[in-house]
Amino acid sequence: MQIGKAVFITTRCFTTAKKEKVTKMSQRLILPITDMRITATYKNAQYKAYWGFHHYGLDAIGSNTDVYACGNGKVIACGPDGTTLYGDQSRLGNVIVIVYEDVLFQDETVSGLACRMFHFDQIYVQAGEYVTQSTVIGQYGNTGRYTTGPHLHIEFDTDTRWPCYAYGVASSGNIIKAGTIDSTKNANKIWYIGTDQQLRGAVNGWYKPEDINVPNLPENPPQTDYQALYEKEKNRAEQIQAQADACLSKKQALLAELKSLYQKYE
Ligand SMILES: [Zn+2]
Repeated sequence: MQIGKAVFITTRCFTTAKKEKVTKMSQRLILPITDMRITATYKNAQYKAYWGFHHYGLDAIGSNTDVYACGNGKVIACGPDGTTLYGDQSRLGNVIVIVYEDVLFQDETVSGLACRMFHFDQIYVQAGEYVTQSTVIGQYGNTGRYTTGPHLHIEFDTDTRWPCYAYGVASSGNIIKAGTIDSTKNANKIWYIGTDQQLRGAVNGWYKPEDINVPNLPENPPQTDYQALYEKEKNRAEQIQAQADACLSKKQALLAELKSLYQKYE
């Protein structure tokens, strides 16, 4: 939670009864590629059959190779993951690790997220830098051992304390370390298609249509109208009071009638 940092723009506010304006901020993430085509989805079976190991991320290409940040985040680490001996073609290639705080998932839960991206051709950011949805962080490419063509690999992980530890990576490289617990998440269940963005499956891509069903970013995130809620409850209370008043007068009228009947037959 980064209160007071200018780069953490609110997309949703939760107010309390106190006068403090914002007590909780969260952000929705959008796609890192404007015109994005998915070539392999998260934990895809065809991927496993081809490579012999699980896919803990999502692979994608675009109509150009620009890669943007998905939201307001901080670059934790970036650079070549491989050793100098094998250059760009060893391990995961050029990688970027970003942490996004307080991410509002599609299912309305909120969590911090580490985002690991592999196979960059160019990296434009540095460790420690803050990024936004309008920051071009690099150009995806074909660096690293496990690529069959230029693409971006993206994986999300809720373990923000150890953002560089990736489950499914057998040994540690310069940046990406071998993780032991699978705390990865399916990107398509988290992010949204931003304004002017497009998402579809690539030709011959490894995906099922339901795996790429991603909602559009809501233009105006729903916010509670407390004034309207107050008016509604006030009206309801007034109606109940009017009904109670009417009951009371009816009771008094009946009692009076009963009294007169007693007097009549006494
Ligand atoms: Zn991948």
